[in-house]
Amino acid sequence: MAAAINDKTRVVFVTNPNNPTGTWVNKNDLISFLNKVPANVLVLLDEAYFEYVQNADYPDGLSLLSAYPNLVVARTFSKAYGLAAMRVGYGASSVEVADLLNRVRPPFNVNSLALVAATASLSDDDYVQRSIVENSKGMQQLEAAFNELNIEYIPSVANFIAFKIPSPLKAAEVFQQLLAKGVIVRPVAGYEMPDYLRVSIGTTQENQGFIAAFTQVLA
Ligand SMILES: *Cc1c(COP(=O)(O)O)cnc(C)c1O
Repeated sequence: MAAAINDKTRVVFVTNPNNPTGTWVNKNDLISFLNKVPANVLVLLDEAYFEYVQNADYPDGLSLLSAYPNLVVARTFSKAYGLAAMRVGYGASSVEVADLLNRVRPPFNVNSLALVAATASLSDDDYVQRSIVENSKGMQQLEAAFNELNIEYIPSVANFIAFKIPSPLKAAEVFQQLLAKGVIVRPVAGYEMPDYLRVSIGTTQENQGFIAAFTQVLA
């Protein structure tokens, strides 16, 4: 991505962990990338899945803001905080970038109840901790099932996992068959991953429902 930056580049998006792969960039790699980006090009670091990552060398974007004035860190209450329906997230950047963003953002872009919920949830560490624990339990449950079924998957640190549909089955058809069984997964052909589907981690029971439905589709 650094090599692809040219005179016309205004902003570069880095999603860490990435969606829909669930892979992540470590601190050294992120810093060496930031060092290659010209100061007049913004880097939007999307950390929607930040809270789930347990690895010691996973970088906290906020800690890099003072060194990189062209960095913007975006986070959300939609994932580990469980507030997706509230439509609220936040960004952190230099004062200069925040000022420019404020000039173009629509007025009332976050409603006041969402702000109350988001503010309250910031001090609900127990909930976030529970999200993280449930997620990693569910991840292990799905990985074990994929191993059992001989299904390839991309090891993920987020709250979903991308898995490969074995030929001659087609991902688009498996998606439809799962849908008919009441299980909604996500086709990711739009990300140049036509053979993969992405499933979100649910409760133990929901995960089991997905595993049972997928096992039937494979049979
Ligand atoms: C969920 C998500 C977001 C945040 O979406 P909201 O609009 O806050 O729900 C941002 N980036 C990525 C990669 C996501 O998966």
